[in-house]
Formats: sequence, structure tokens, C-alpha cells
Amino acid sequence: MMSQASAPPRQRTAIRGGWVVAFDGSRHRIISDGAVVFVGDRIVAVGVGAEADADTVIDARGKLVIPGLISTHAHIGAHPGDRLVLDVGRRELQGSGFLHYEPRKALHAPPFGAGEDTGAALRFGLATLLRSGVTTVLDMGTGDAIVGRELVRFAGECGIRLYYGPGVTSAHYLWSVDGRVLRSWREDGGAGALRDAVDFIKEHHGRYDGRVHGMVIIHETFNAAPALLRAAKTAAGSLGVGLSIHCAEQVFEFHEILRTTGFTPVGYLASVDFLGPEVVLGHCLYADGHSRVGYPYAGDLETIARTGSSVAHSPVAVARRGAMLEDLQRYVDCGVTVSIGTDSYPHDMFAEMQYASMLGKVATRNHEAADAATVFTAATLGGAKALRRTDLGRLCPGAKADLVIVDFTNPRLGPVYDPVKALLHCATSDLVERVIVDGITVVDRGEVLAWDHSTLLAGVRASSRRVWDGFRAHHWAGRTAEEEFPPSFQAWTGDDDASCGG
Ligand SMILES: [Zn+2]
Repeated sequence: MMSQASAPPRQRTAIRGGWVVAFDGSRHRIISDGAVVFVGDRIVAVGVGAEADADTVIDARGKLVIPGLISTHAHIGAHPGDRLVLDVGRRELQGSGFLHYEPRKALHAPPFGAGEDTGAALRFGLATLLRSGVTTVLDMGTGDAIVGRELVRFAGECGIRLYYGPGVTSAHYLWSVDGRVLRSWREDGGAGALRDAVDFIKEHHGRYDGRVHGMVIIHETFNAAPALLRAAKTAAGSLGVGLSIHCAEQVFEFHEILRTTGFTPVGYLASVDFLGPEVVLGHCLYADGHSRVGYPYAGDLETIARTGSSVAHSPVAVARRGAMLEDLQRYVDCGVTVSIGTDSYPHDMFAEMQYASMLGKVATRNHEAADAATVFTAATLGGAKALRRTDLGRLCPGAKADLVIVDFTNPRLGPVYDPVKALLHCATSDLVERVIVDGITVVDRGEVLAWDHSTLLAGVRASSRRVWDGFRAHHWAGRTAEEEFPPSFQAWTGDDDASCGG
């Protein structure tokens, strides 16, 4: 492992910009030729000339200095699954991705990713997040306590801020012999797994100078018994940590919950008093009134806003399955706290922000909707509010020294009329030059300092290839990955005759 570059704790370090996206106490503001000064893990000054008496100056002239981005919904080590189902899949699963590979043939059969090198997968995911400017990430309950320990250790190594707890569920997905998706409900409804998650959080919360935070994670609204939801809410309250859950993510979920409870997924969570300011709802695109659910608008968004819950919006992953949260602007206008998540892959906050804005406009046929300011605010202040943090997602004295420098000298930016609009619509995450968390540089010149990039890439590729090669043993009818999920073009070995067609 390469050593991390770190600033001596009491030294005054200044980033001399460039444009600085600073926080005035209520919203972001742009300072041209500004500076940000931090001592240890805290920002102490922001403004023009603030760098005057700094011990060390990082030159960011011509560049953009932004708060560290916050991904409030990530499956950090999930690489092989959703890559398989791109462009293909069974129509009866209604656009779902994970139902193509998540179910097992039997309750005790190995899971989909049984052959994976979880260490390689997790480190690659964390590195990708950091390289796209994410300084804080909420992982949606990857693995059990054993995998969770690895994740916490890797987060400590690379320096990211992590919100996590092992995920809990009342039911698991199974395949019938003819490929139908079934559910197997746990006898204890998930109570034992929740107890284990609570123990895990007690053990790890606050580690690595407080960068690791516990979070109670319930996998899915669809698979959560009311008793588990109530117990999770109580547990999170006792621990003083947040709660997150997938909600209103699938069309079939909307209809099944509606049919069995009489409530929409959001209404169901409200009916068991689950919602509150500590709750982050993953995806939440199928609120009532969505054009794909065939149910009139009856106030889901007001319910979310009234309870203070937040939504983690991950437009890229759902767009790949032909879906979208239809009216981001309406969520915001209703008072819902919207944050941005990177979901499964490629953990690219820049792409998520661009899609959030573009799809927010396309869905409403309104060029004014989901503007750059709204989306950038969601990726920063929205994420901070979702995690109930007043010291993240902003550059102001007293805030954590979590910062990102984006290389705006790159020619792909072209003329910059408005740096935030340029960030959303012209930049890519490859322009992230330096990332600082708690005052410590963790990415420099676009490279994660803790790990070697080519080793990470080779590791995650070998790991994913093992899962794909072993898919036949996992599939209910013994099909290979290539049979079930045809690649774009057939493999060509060059043995058969080639011509130019015609
Ligand atoms: Zn998810």
C-alpha cells in the first residue's frame, strides 16, 4: 500500500482557486479567484484573499473548488450483476435488473456473487467513488458482518467517509424450478439479522476519526415485515443513527404492496410510522401519480416532505432499465429533501448529476426544471441534510474540510459562463484532480493515493469474470451468462469466412 499524503494537524492549508462554490449560511454562492483555508479537519476561512497567512498553498487557479460530493445510495462492491442485464432481460420482470441474478435456486444455495473477491470489489468501488469526487457515501448494506468489517477497514484505508450497516431483510428471493421469482420469508422476520446489525454498528460507529458512521439498512420495503420496520426504527433511534431502505423502486413492488396492504410503498412506510428525518428512501421513483403505476396522485410527496424523510435519487441505474423519476422538480417544490446516489455502477456523481438534470427536464418537457443549481445542491447540501449533517456538503468556516478540485483548465470545458452549469453539462469525473477528506488529500492528480489503480482494476475484473463464468451453476435452468444475457455482438474467432457484405 502506498502511503497517504497528509497535512500536519495544525498547519493552515489554503486552496487558492479558481472559482470556489462557497456557502453563505443558506445557499451556495460563487466566489471568483477565491480561497478556502483549513486547519486539521475543519475549514477556517473562505473568501477572496483568505490564503494570505497560510503555511501551505495548493494552487487551484483556473480550477473549480467544490464541497465533497455525497452519494446517499451506493452498492459499493456490486459490479458483476447489473452489467449483465444491460439492454436485455425478461419482460415479465418489468424492467427490474437485480431479479435476473439475485434469486437463488434454493434457500441455502450459494448467492450470485459467491465466487467474488469481495476485497477487490469493495476497494474498486470505493476508489471509483473517491475519483468522482465523492467524499461521503452511504452504502446500502453490502454483505454481512464479515464483509462489513472489510468495507469499514477499506474505508479507513482510503480515507472516505462511510455510512453503513449490514443490510437486514424479512425475506429472500428464490427461483422456482421453472424460473418464477418467489420469496422465502424468514421465520424470525429478520429480527436476528437486525440484532447483528445493531451489534456491528455499536462496534464500528465512530471509527477512523469519526469517518465511519453506523446506519441501519433495511434492504427493501417490498421485503420488510411491519414488525421489522418498527424494530429498525426503534433501533436506529436508540443508536442515534439514520435509517435507509429501498422504496418505490419497482413497478411490481408498487402494485404488490398496494394489492396486499391498500397503501402505496410510501404510504405503507408511513402507515407503520417508519418515516422521519432520519430516513433515506432509496430511489423512490414510483410515487403515486407516476405514469407507469396507473394510480392517481394522492400525496406521497407531501407525506415524505411532512415527515422530513429524504429521497436518494439515482437516475443513471434506473434509466438503463428504461425508467425514471418523472418529476424531480415536483419533489423539490413539494419540500422533499432530494439527494443523489450512485447506486451500482459506475459510481460517477458527475453522470448522476447530468442525468438528474436532463431527465428532470425531459420528463416534464420543461427546460426550467431540475436546473444545475437544484441538482448540485442535491448532491451536496441535500446529501448532508439526508444524513443530518450541518458540517458536510458546504464550504464555510466550521464545516469539515471535505473538498474537491475539478480541473477547469481542461479544454473540454470550453468557455465557462457559469461554473456550476459547466460542471453539470461539460465536465466529467475524469476532471477530478484532487479530493480532500477531513483535511487529508486522498486523491491527487486523479489517482487514489491508498491503492494502486492497475492492481484494483485487474482485481475487480478477475473477480467479476469468476462470477460470470460461474453463472450456469447459479441459474435456475443452468444457462450460461452469455445464453441468458446475450452480448451486443456475437464472438468471432475469425475461423469463418469474412466479406464486406453485399
Ligand atoms: Zn439500490
